[in-house]
Amino acid sequence: MPTKPAGRYFLQVPGPTVVPDEAMAAMSMPMLDHRSQQFADLARGISADLKKIFKTQQPVLIYPSSGTGAWEAAATNTLSVGDSVLIPEVGMFSTLWGKNARGLGLNVIEIPGDWRTGIDPAKVEDQLRADREGRIKAVFATHNETSTGVTSDIAAIRQAIDAAGHDALLFVDTISSLCATDFRMDEWGVDLAICGSQKGLMMPPGLSFLAVSEKARQRAESSNMAKGYFDWTPMFEAAETGFYPYTPPVSLFNGLRVTVNMLLEEGLENVFARHARLARATRAAVRSWGLEIQSIKESEHSAAVTAVRVPDGYSADKFRALVLEKYDMSLAAGLGKIADKVFRIGHLGYQNDLTVLGALAGVEMALGLSDIPHNKGGINAAMAILGT
Ligand code: PLP
Repeated sequence: MPTKPAGRYFLQVPGPTVVPDEAMAAMSMPMLDHRSQQFADLARGISADLKKIFKTQQPVLIYPSSGTGAWEAAATNTLSVGDSVLIPEVGMFSTLWGKNARGLGLNVIEIPGDWRTGIDPAKVEDQLRADREGRIKAVFATHNETSTGVTSDIAAIRQAIDAAGHDALLFVDTISSLCATDFRMDEWGVDLAICGSQKGLMMPPGLSFLAVSEKARQRAESSNMAKGYFDWTPMFEAAETGFYPYTPPVSLFNGLRVTVNMLLEEGLENVFARHARLARATRAAVRSWGLEIQSIKESEHSAAVTAVRVPDGYSADKFRALVLEKYDMSLAAGLGKIADKVFRIGHLGYQNDLTVLGALAGVEMALGLSDIPHNKGGINAAMAILGT
């Protein structure tokens, strides 16, 4: 019995996502001196192109860390111990963001959510209006909640902050939205935009990104939080010059050069349209199976991931194990309070009609082998969308 099944493994999770072969090849290039002009030009070029992706004129800092590191960098460089931050709860990642903030000594005010809908801008506005003493220094908004497949309207949250006449900074986690869904840092008045390499940017985990507004840079002057590895002062210089204060992961920069080129060549609007279409086909399949989608508002369905609820009394984790065993495909697990209640189909990153159809066929076949009640024909519904 071979240890590895024949053919390509299907990685249908919303990060880490499939890395294109061209980027894999670039990451095996010989090591460069990170203090050479050649590396500096590479790094500077990437920082400049990332501005196009974040739709910003502001600097984009690149940290060697997972996305969580950029959460931490955003907070420690701009806030002070004891500051209040407002965090609308939309799922596991907004919850973890709050945990990270508490650990840093921030006072977290959470707006409770149902994990099935996005951020309610009216509730953000109410909280900010009630904050007459200006204790809230930042709003932490998760653009695409990866655990639930729900996307929130960031422009509406900016309007809510402005309507309340509040000067809190707007932090946005774009970790699973960037390059899947339109994101406009400058137009939407975002102060700190956070991302990671392993999702829409089609790279392995290991790099995080932080786009910083002028207002956030000014706030940094009064921040008293402890800063070490994530101190952004030398990182602004690095974004300009390409010379880093510590050894950057050279191979990841080589790979990122390739994937950023691919995204810009495809055109961001085409990248978003591709994701929206694949997501639509996935939802059509899920509905045909007679299963429920975790996200309940049509306008909030994620372009990156679809979380599918299994009927009460059935185990989503058992189903995922069956899919892996029979079809060598990883679906993502339900997290936190929806653990074992949902499985998540990632359609994020380096995906096309046939990879998503292959994934949906695997789910449909595995449903047939499982005891989960369902209807056939999801794959036909998906083909009806993709075949036009
Ligand atoms: N925020 C969101 C929306 C995520 O999806 C993730 C990871 O999946 C994170 C934060 C944490 O990022 P990382 O695991 O790269 O630290």
